[in-house]
Amino acid sequence: DLHPIRRALISVSDKTGLIDLGQALAARGIVLLSTGGSAKALREAGLEVTDVAQVTGFPEMMDGRVKTLHPGVHGGLLALRDDEAHVAAMRQHGIEEIDLLVVNLYPFEDTVAKGGDYADCIENIDIGGPAMIRAAAKNHAFVNVVVDVQDYAPLLAELDANGGQTTYAFRQRLAQMAYARTAAYDAAVSTWMADALAEPAPRRRAFAGSLRQTLRYGENPHQAAAFYVDGSDRPGVATARQLQGKELSYNNINDTDAAFELVSEFKPEDGPACAIIKHANPCGVAKGATLEEAYRRAFDCDRTSAFGGIIALNQPLDGATAEAIAEIFTEVVIAPGADDEARAVFAAKKNLRLLVTDGLADTAQAGLTYRQVSGGMLVQDRDIGRLTRGDLKVVTQKAPTEAQIDDMLFAWTVAKHVKSNAIIYVRDGATVGVGAGQMSRVDSTRIAARKAQDMAEALGLDQPLTHGSVVASDAFFPFADGLLTAAEAGATALIQPGGSMRDDEVIRAADEAGLAMVFTGMRHFRH
Ligand code: 5GP
Repeated sequence: DLHPIRRALISVSDKTGLIDLGQALAARGIVLLSTGGSAKALREAGLEVTDVAQVTGFPEMMDGRVKTLHPGVHGGLLALRDDEAHVAAMRQHGIEEIDLLVVNLYPFEDTVAKGGDYADCIENIDIGGPAMIRAAAKNHAFVNVVVDVQDYAPLLAELDANGGQTTYAFRQRLAQMAYARTAAYDAAVSTWMADALAEPAPRRRAFAGSLRQTLRYGENPHQAAAFYVDGSDRPGVATARQLQGKELSYNNINDTDAAFELVSEFKPEDGPACAIIKHANPCGVAKGATLEEAYRRAFDCDRTSAFGGIIALNQPLDGATAEAIAEIFTEVVIAPGADDEARAVFAAKKNLRLLVTDGLADTAQAGLTYRQVSGGMLVQDRDIGRLTRGDLKVVTQKAPTEAQIDDMLFAWTVAKHVKSNAIIYVRDGATVGVGAGQMSRVDSTRIAARKAQDMAEALGLDQPLTHGSVVASDAFFPFADGLLTAAEAGATALIQPGGSMRDDEVIRAADEAGLAMVFTGMRHFRH
């Protein structure tokens, strides 16, 4: 299954490494064919190149839309070398074998990312490139296909290891990667068109993504893993710049995303805010007069869990906040910028990963979320549901104060980012208890209250911070027990969707306990 490479066709948009590759191939006696721009670059480097136009007998035409779409090219890629009829057809029509195809495609994804207009994006849909890639990949029994600059060096190494030939296993691996590339490419086109149609509905979607990096391992060391990105330039973990620290792990990326999406709910003009995440759930979220204060208040929600956490800030990191963060071990800090003083503070903490973004995530942006299940994929609209004061319906005799409403909306916003069943206690714009991911709502209510009790003891407070707090529940209280637990912990007001069969019973319990309660009519499950 070893086959030599005698003739190569090179047609690349990204000319990185092109000359080196051309020289290396020519030095191994390989004849080079090439399209316009690629041929020009090779020739300028002093290499001998045959124009594809000479092979096809047609000039490149229609702005390059038609360059290589011709039997002279496709016959050379697709012919089975061990099939007499195929070989006879080649000879009859003057077609010569092409043993290596090197193509990278028109930069469609980059054109979209850079905000190219409709016509620009259309013109950057490569037609001949994918056609050749698919042809060469199909015929990997004989043909090598390289679609990524990163595979130039391995190709040359393979040739050298096998006396100018390649193995079947090698060609098969190249073919698999080639189809991954054309699939992702067409998925990017389809996704862009769906967006252009203003129809981001979860129907008939293809899944686009390109490999950003392979990761050391996945959730656990025995799981291989990689990070794929969709090519958008929106602020987030996929586009953040890492200024220092160890490489991000799979869990870091997941948690940093959760942290940044949550903190992005708090617009910078509404004041500093901080979210601390552990295992994708917040263990403290707070606003503050300064960024440092926001961090310290978030930290005080659950100091035990915050150790080794992921911190997201809604404003550029400053020196004072960096000093405060550096007091304990933290895995990752992400913020829309970091000043020189902050960078100097962190420079001493070599392992701490610092990521900066260009602004916050747009939490109102429509889009889709994907989740894999065995044998399939679930697709849904992003949860961009938002409440304002006017959406709240007071259902108790007691009405909440303005300050309580502020805290309710804060708690509700946090609840959206907490695994169900989510119960959030908030006082003065800071979480003071978070109950996450429990299978019963009353357990979430209890756990958050108990942790607040522990914190009060650790901080030497007379009573837990849940005293005088408001509580948000991501979905309705099915019974009065959860509400009564919150009241025992000192909660004075509640925000919840309502809609339970037993709403009457729950409202009655709230009235008897002297609580104020509002219904949202919207829930924020996050499973
Ligand atoms: P060059 O810079 O060499 O002129 O063009 C290289 C690019 O042209 C590559 O990205 C390749 O995929 C693309 N290409 C090659 N043949 C065709 C074709 O027939 N039609 C179109 N639209 N693109 C082609």
